[in-house]
Amino acid sequence: MGCAVLRCSNVTAHTVNVMPPDCVPIEVRLCEEHDAAIRAGQPWFYDDDERAVLMRKDLVTSGMQLIAKFTTFGEDRGTAGRNSMALHGEYEDGTPFKLLLSTQSLTWLRSMFEKFPDIGAR
Ligand SMILES: [Zn+2]
Repeated sequence: MGCAVLRCSNVTAHTVNVMPPDCVPIEVRLCEEHDAAIRAGQPWFYDDDERAVLMRKDLVTSGMQLIAKFTTFGEDRGTAGRNSMALHGEYEDGTPFKLLLSTQSLTWLRSMFEKFPDIGAR
């Protein structure tokens, strides 16, 4: 069985837990190259359906691309400024994006930050 990264057939060298520390572990096997890339901080996501680790273009295709930073908010006209907020930022590869968040989605996000206060503290 090859490396757990989608379409990689390299010989495996490392066993890695893809779940957060406080969850039931799911261990996958990775090749030297992908283990090193993940340790170097490259974004990845474990896809339960594919039972594979997604990286690079597969992250983009799956819609799981990492947002690297937000740059501005609320500058759009129209719905924004009334019952929503426009957020602008960049993905990890520098590609710009815009999100229009409704009041409902902002309220939900706020509740998630309250539910998981330790997020980002690892
Ligand atoms: Zn690999």
